[in-house]
Amino acid sequence: MSREAFPSLIVRANKIEPQGVFAEALARYLRPDARACAGLARLLAARQAGVVAHFYMDPELQGTLAACSSAHVHISDSLEMAARAVQMAGAGARAIVVLGVDFMSENVRAVFDAAGFDRVPVYRVTREPIGCSLAEAAEGPAYGAYLARAAETPRSLHVIYINTSLRTKANAQRLLPTMTCTSSNVVRTVLQARAQIPELSVWYGPDTYMGGNLRQLFAGLARLDDDGAVRELHREHERASIADLLGRFHYFPQGVCIVHHLFGAEIARTVERDYEDALVTAHLEVPGEMFALALAAQRQGRGVVGSTANILRFVGEAVQAAARAGRGGRLRFVLGTEAAMVTPIMRRVQALLREHDGAAAGGLEAEIIFPVADEAVARTEDAELAVVPGVASGEGCSTAGGCATCPYMKMSSLGALLDLLARIGVEPDESLVAFHPRKYADTIGGRTVADLGGEPILHMREFQRTGRLPDALVADVLGRGGPT
Ligand code: SF4
Repeated sequence: MSREAFPSLIVRANKIEPQGVFAEALARYLRPDARACAGLARLLAARQAGVVAHFYMDPELQGTLAACSSAHVHISDSLEMAARAVQMAGAGARAIVVLGVDFMSENVRAVFDAAGFDRVPVYRVTREPIGCSLAEAAEGPAYGAYLARAAETPRSLHVIYINTSLRTKANAQRLLPTMTCTSSNVVRTVLQARAQIPELSVWYGPDTYMGGNLRQLFAGLARLDDDGAVRELHREHERASIADLLGRFHYFPQGVCIVHHLFGAEIARTVERDYEDALVTAHLEVPGEMFALALAAQRQGRGVVGSTANILRFVGEAVQAAARAGRGGRLRFVLGTEAAMVTPIMRRVQALLREHDGAAAGGLEAEIIFPVADEAVARTEDAELAVVPGVASGEGCSTAGGCATCPYMKMSSLGALLDLLARIGVEPDESLVAFHPRKYADTIGGRTVADLGGEPILHMREFQRTGRLPDALVADVLGRGGPT
C-alpha cells in the first residue's frame, strides 16, 4: 500500500489540481490577477524598464511576471539573468530591476559596467540587504583560511559559486586565480579547466553539498568500465584524467543553502520507498543522499541532476516525449529543488499539453511532487488567504533545519516592484539610492572591489562565449601559487 507523504500539484492542459495544503497555497498563486498583469505591463512600457527575475521568486510575483505581455520581462536561473539584462539594455531599456538576492543584482551591475552600460541604472526592490546563507558562509574567517591553503598550493584555481558577494570574489581574486560558476556550468567549468591546465588543483566553494556531489559525480565517472561516457561529457577527458582531477579536487566543508539542506537522507528514503514510479529531479545543491538517488535515476533515463534550467528542460522533454508518443495517464516528477520552480514548470507543461491536443484528449497529465512537509507553509492574518507557501517569522521551515522556500528570495514582492517602477524615471535617481546594488568603491591593491570582484565573473562569461578558459586566467594559474 502506498504511504505517499508529500503534497503535489496535478497539471492538466487547462486545469491544476493541488493535493495538500502546501500545494493548495502554491496553486492559489498560479492564477495571476489579470489587472495586476496589465498594470505591470503598462508601467514597464512607460518607464522603458526591464525586469530579470530568478525562478525562486514567490509564485504570486512570478505568476504575474510570466503572464505579463512585456518583452522586457525575463525569468530564469542566475546565469541567464545577467545575459538577458545586457540584451535588454542593448535593445534600449533605460533601467533594469533585478528580482533575486543581492549577489544577483551585484552580478548584473558588474556585467553592465564591463559591457559599457554603466549609465543604465540597476535596482533591487528592497531597501534592506537581501542575504543568502551560502553567500554568508564565504564571508567568515573559515573561508579565508580555506583560500589561504589554496593560494599556497601550486597550479590552483578557485572556482567560486556565483552565489557570493562581489567583496568575497574580490578578496579571493586577490589571493589566487578565481573564476565564478553557476550550477548550470560548474561541471563543464571544472572539466575544461583541468583539460587546459595539467596537474591543476581545483578549490571549489562555498557550497559543501554541491562540492560533495561533484566529487561523487567524478568518482562515479572514474569507476566506469570504459571511457565512452566520460568522453561524452568532455571529449578531452578519460577515466585516468578524471581520477587525477579527483585527487586534486577540494571543496569547502562549511557552506549550506538552507533551502536545499531540506532534501536530506529522510526525504531521499521516502522518495525511494514511496515514489518508485516517479521521475526524480535534484538540484546540485541538495545533500548527497538525494543527489545519489537522482543521479542513479538519471543514469536509467528516469531523472536529472543539475541546475534549475536542467530540471525545467528535463520535465519539458519528458512531457513532450510522452505527448508525441500519444501516451495517456500521469507522469510523476519529484521536484528536488525550491518549490517556486513549480511556476515555470506548470507553464511549460500546460503549454506542451495544449500544443499536443491529442495528448490532452488522451488524458496525459503531470504530477509535480514537493518533497516537503505538508505543514511547510506560513499562516497569514488574511481571511481570504490563510496560508501561503514559505516562511514568515520562522514558520514554513522544518524542525530538521531546512526551509521549503527561500526566505531571502521571498523578500521581493509584487507590491514592492510596482512601487519602485512607479518611481523610476519620475523621481531623481538619488532618491532611489537605497535600491541600488552595493557600490564597493573601496580599493584592494589599487583596484576597486567592484572591478576586482567583477573579474571572476568576466572569466566565466568568456568561458560561456568561447568554451575555453581565458588565456590570461590560465597564465595566472601557471604563474601564481605556491609558497613564496
Ligand atoms: S535558495 Fe536562497 S539560501 Fe539557497 S542559495 Fe539560493 S538564495 Fe541562497
